[in-house]
Amino acid sequence: MAEPKTHGIVFPGKKRSGPDDLDGDDLPNTKNSMFPGSAPTSEDPVAALANARHEFGEHGGVNMSIEVSATFTVMKPETMPRMFSGELGPDRDLFIYSRHFNPTVLNLGRQMAALEGTEAAYCTASGMSAISSVLLQLCSSGGHVVASSTLYGGTHALLTHFLPRACNITTSFVDISNHEMVQNVIVEGKTNVLFFESVSNPTLTVANIPELSRIAHDKRVTVVVDNTFAPMVLSPARLGADVVVHSISKFISGGADIIAGAVCGSSSLVNSMMDLHQGALMLLGPTVNAKVAFDLSERIPHLSLRMKEHCHRAMTFATRMKKLGLKVVYPGLEEHPQHQLLKAMANKEYGFGGLLCVDMETEEKANRLMNCLQNCTQFGFMAVSLGYYETLMSCSGSSTSSELNAEEKALAGISPGLVRMSIGYIGTLEQKWSQFEKALSRMQDLGVFM
Ligand SMILES: *Cc1c(COP(=O)(O)O)cnc(C)c1O
Repeated sequence: MAEPKTHGIVFPGKKRSGPDDLDGDDLPNTKNSMFPGSAPTSEDPVAALANARHEFGEHGGVNMSIEVSATFTVMKPETMPRMFSGELGPDRDLFIYSRHFNPTVLNLGRQMAALEGTEAAYCTASGMSAISSVLLQLCSSGGHVVASSTLYGGTHALLTHFLPRACNITTSFVDISNHEMVQNVIVEGKTNVLFFESVSNPTLTVANIPELSRIAHDKRVTVVVDNTFAPMVLSPARLGADVVVHSISKFISGGADIIAGAVCGSSSLVNSMMDLHQGALMLLGPTVNAKVAFDLSERIPHLSLRMKEHCHRAMTFATRMKKLGLKVVYPGLEEHPQHQLLKAMANKEYGFGGLLCVDMETEEKANRLMNCLQNCTQFGFMAVSLGYYETLMSCSGSSTSSELNAEEKALAGISPGLVRMSIGYIGTLEQKWSQFEKALSRMQDLGVFM
């Protein structure tokens, strides 16, 4: 009996046919090539994004359809084992199960790969799951990480407490602006990963990505960079890093309504992380929901516009705050220790980042400032996180970096009065600035400031 071509009618008059609906052996052997490995050619992230494949909807919609299925059918029973052996995969539009690959999530991954200039990327349910999965993929039990002493609190806790206990993976923390120290702490043959943030949280220290990558590669160490603070502004992989991780929950989402993450790297790394037997993304299962992935895919096309405005306002406010006599940390200011470095590494026309810090020296002064900025003039909200259209303010030492003890905070350069601000773009620039000035003069009137 001839094999039926369809097993169901999807739309009246439309027959279902599957991607495996081909004559037996004309399916190419694509083992381990779920990501064909074509690195974007363009140097500019916006140009690369425009060149990424545009997915249309099932009915010709300008937006792609959302693939909400957890599981996928095949037209022929013989296809299933060929998918499980890794011979057939998403590059042939063949899917098994959505914890593994999902077309909508894969599309977001393609956008992230284009953004970061890597061969491949896959998205996860959070930034932390992206970071923990990639570290577990790259390190075996007994492995060693060299990491910046200035890191996001969650990453710091993962490296300090969780990985040594659960997996016998240890970390040496270093000041990554001290390249000699980095070189000395890396142990060739033992160290697996050099991990740092492109722009660090919360001190806004900028890493010399090409130089650190060179040092690590000399000792055959993989460089993993968290680029959460500087999407569009910096492209770590284009500067020599091997892997770029993101908390998409921040600038890339922009809505402060979604938690998601991404691992961007070579096809071989991402494929190994999706491996049915050995892959951290497949086996730990931190996949992102397809509906969430769709929402994020729709926001990436305007990420560059948002970043430009975040950066423009942060630069303007930092300059004006400094003129008022405040102690401001912003990589766009000439006196920032890595201003020239950032200028040399940054993609043109985006600016110097959307975050700035005001050092109020004591936690009490920091709290008074934030209180007034929120409750007297509505300049911003007291909240952790970043990349939102409203300005978000937090006192890092007692919030997002509270996982660090006093000594670790001092080592990381986090003053107890450091107020981190993620500058939003709601309202007019002058309207928001006058709110800032008003709050400040109110504090001066009360005699609590300077
Ligand atoms: C928020 C953040 C993370 C963690 O991301 P989640 O999406 O909250 O899991 C990691 N690194 C940096 C720099 C962050 O700001």
